[in-house]
Amino acid sequence: MSQNHAERAHAKLSASGSSRWLACPGSVKLESQYPDVTTSFAEEGTAAHELSELMLQYKIGEITKRQYSGRLKKHKKGEYFSQEMLDHCENYTDLVVERVNEAKAKTKDALVLLEQRLDFSQWVPEGFGTGDVLVIADGVMEVIDLKYGKGVLVSAENNSQMRLYGLGAYNEYDLLYDIETVRMTIIQPRLDNVSTEELAADELLKWAEEVVKPTAEEAAQGSETFEAGSHCRFCKARAECRVRAEANLELAKHEFKEPELLSPVEIADVLAKADELKSWVSDIEGHALDQAYKHGVSYPGWKVVEGRSNRIYADKEAVQDLLILEGYSEDEIHKPTEIKGITDMQKALGKKQFDTLLKDFIIKPPGKPKLAPESDKRPALSSAASAAEDFK
Ligand code: SF4
Repeated sequence: MSQNHAERAHAKLSASGSSRWLACPGSVKLESQYPDVTTSFAEEGTAAHELSELMLQYKIGEITKRQYSGRLKKHKKGEYFSQEMLDHCENYTDLVVERVNEAKAKTKDALVLLEQRLDFSQWVPEGFGTGDVLVIADGVMEVIDLKYGKGVLVSAENNSQMRLYGLGAYNEYDLLYDIETVRMTIIQPRLDNVSTEELAADELLKWAEEVVKPTAEEAAQGSETFEAGSHCRFCKARAECRVRAEANLELAKHEFKEPELLSPVEIADVLAKADELKSWVSDIEGHALDQAYKHGVSYPGWKVVEGRSNRIYADKEAVQDLLILEGYSEDEIHKPTEIKGITDMQKALGKKQFDTLLKDFIIKPPGKPKLAPESDKRPALSSAASAAEDFK
């Protein structure tokens, strides 16, 4: 059954939230007190999914060119549509078509399904999700998921959301197609990221029985087992949760010993905790402002005030008219026309055209030095002191 993107229902134990509820089963009950909120990023993602589905319908021959062109016109009127989105969806759908062709080369009977409701409620109470693309050929089933975000690179390795989609698809199609291998692929066109995890169906089922099922049942029954960690950032209770607060306050505790100044080892210890602490503090600040300003909640010792603001013209046209009347020239009162910034230009031209025309004009100056953990992929910069020493 094909799913309407905008109406994709959110299960309580959703696949997208599974890394959180698998680590912290108590979060399910706690989260149920909070309303669902949508963001412009989520809406943009929905628009990209809808456009990609249309492109795939055309590319795999489900609709005619005429139907495609007619429907594309409607998409072009959408709030989030841009040439850049069109290019990214082209790249994503081309990659999907490559996978489909590979499957068809193996067997003419390869099955391709778009937007399938995937039911994994055998392991997760009321659990279901939507698979963007399913390709089944010769005992191998591939579940492909478009991720339109570009904030974080998402890997398919050990990705519980993808594995649950894989389970749902396996559940639905194993009887008919005798599936031995499940491939789970994430395509993130804005980051040129294609990531796949391949598991034997038995391995996936073992994970489902031993890891998912017991935790999901515990979570669905209102578990009070909480575990704070990086997954808290996506939890609706992240600002008010006591376990997260305690974990962060514990992180902030440090036994500082003599002498009066911190040693590099002690500073390194603080740095290692800083990201999680900053994220927690910023969640608390955002939540408290929202509650105090919009809902009148009062926090002892705190009040809402007006932040700093910059002066603006009340009426730009009236200002221009007045200054011209007073004898000022156009040059004196207007800024020279400015070229669009790189992000806006890429949006306007589309990535392909942008790269073709402007590739040689784009430079990337070195970034400002920044502290990063040892595990970061970027090579370490030599310090200014050692560079000066080398120069000598
Ligand atoms: S904030 Fe973290 S610890 Fe608290 S319920 Fe959510 S996931 Fe669990």
